[in-house]
Amino acid sequence: MVKATTHTVIRGGRMIDPGKRQAVAADILIKGDTIAAIGRPKMAAPQDATMIDAQGRLLHAGLINAHMHSHGGLARGLGDRWTLELLLTAGPWLGGGRTVRDKYLSALLVACEMLLKGCTATYDLMAEFPTPSVDGIDAVARAYSDAGLRAVLAPMTADISFFDAIPGLMDRLPPALRREAEAFRLAPYRASIRQMKKILHGWSYDRALVRPAVAPTIPHHCSDPFLAACRDLARDYGVGMHTHVSESKVQVIAGYQRYGTSLTRHLDTLGIVGPDFTVAHGVWLDHDDMQLLGDKGASVAHNPGSNMRLGSGLADMRGMLERKVNVGIGTDGASCADNQNMYEAMRLASFASKVQGPDIERWITTDEALHAATVGSARALGFGDDIGRLAPGCKADIVFLELAHPNWMPCNDPVNALVHAEDGTAVHSVMVGGRMVVENRKLLTVDLATLAREVDAVRERLQRATRPAKAVCDRLEKVVGAFCPGLARQPLHIHRYGANHAH
Ligand SMILES: [Zn+2]
Repeated sequence: MVKATTHTVIRGGRMIDPGKRQAVAADILIKGDTIAAIGRPKMAAPQDATMIDAQGRLLHAGLINAHMHSHGGLARGLGDRWTLELLLTAGPWLGGGRTVRDKYLSALLVACEMLLKGCTATYDLMAEFPTPSVDGIDAVARAYSDAGLRAVLAPMTADISFFDAIPGLMDRLPPALRREAEAFRLAPYRASIRQMKKILHGWSYDRALVRPAVAPTIPHHCSDPFLAACRDLARDYGVGMHTHVSESKVQVIAGYQRYGTSLTRHLDTLGIVGPDFTVAHGVWLDHDDMQLLGDKGASVAHNPGSNMRLGSGLADMRGMLERKVNVGIGTDGASCADNQNMYEAMRLASFASKVQGPDIERWITTDEALHAATVGSARALGFGDDIGRLAPGCKADIVFLELAHPNWMPCNDPVNALVHAEDGTAVHSVMVGGRMVVENRKLLTVDLATLAREVDAVRERLQRATRPAKAVCDRLEKVVGAFCPGLARQPLHIHRYGANHAH
């Protein structure tokens, strides 16, 4: 942490002004972890201020990842042709056999990647089986703290397994395989709530850097009493709540079959939808769902890369913005993204809107994509206006780009270039809360060579340890890979209206 009385002044750089779409020459004065003033070049600064030379650099507010999973770090690149349902089937293989140290390493390596790629804060929905643990979340919190990345940590919890959550799926499994799937059944929800309470109660990390939240994984993977208990926990401890809603068409159908209404409306009847609530994905939200989220001040974490990678579909970001939904942008986990590159996520948010129809006024502009990946994500994380902008009073989370880099030759419209041309390779330095964590392309907080050696050894161990789980997943994959696409091929209106209208 930077001492509250320490002064730093960044001189000679150019700063992206998103409103004017210009790169303006400006000096930035920082006191402690916060921007104190932004002024003309050579502005006055206290004598004892540390000077950072930003000649030839373009400064922008650190990008904020609104949705990812740190446990995905060690599972990066393990799969290819996966739908969301096949990814969930592979879960016990991908995340199996993990020690507390592995959880730390998995988070550390994605934290390093995000920092090196200009991201300064993240919303992490980490998973542990069968319940979250104090040691597990502590390891992940320590990883972020060690790396120097801001994070909201929401342990994912559920009390209904994937195979029980999709109506008809368990019955489709041959008896031997059904017994295997039954082993994935989760702990009763009270055990998870007890653990969550312990975690929330004993939180010892500085909440300005690492704070907790609550994440029932997927609504229909949680019983209603469990969802209500999560809602109460979030309210009692004043933390955010985040869940995957309408990510895939199969989820939407399962929701209609279970509740007779949309997942969003069901969550609203439980009193969950509000300003501290974030929907992950929302690819299949209907306009009423979006209106409800917008009216209640809720957020959506839009993950276009993951949605394409898993074939989930293209989310309607314009429809969300029109209905005043706060939209943030995320990468999703490394097991389904696979990189953690927020520049790419912004670029895909722009592109995903542009392939949905010929009406260009419905396309997402580059300043809307940048706004979502900074201000929108900040709100989704529960940081309000503290991060996501370069302005007095905001935390000094600043990315320094190399202007003498091909990405920036020439520097025409800097917002267009940031969203459409930058890919993270021009990141020169990164500051989080007034402290340099990346300088001249080198991570100052973590020794990457040591991390690489340890991760490699872990990879070999996990590959051996999860071999039996992989064999089971391979067999389950055949059934899920036939059953779920069958559901997804059904027209949605049969389910939407079938629940309420007698045949
Ligand atoms: Zn996710």
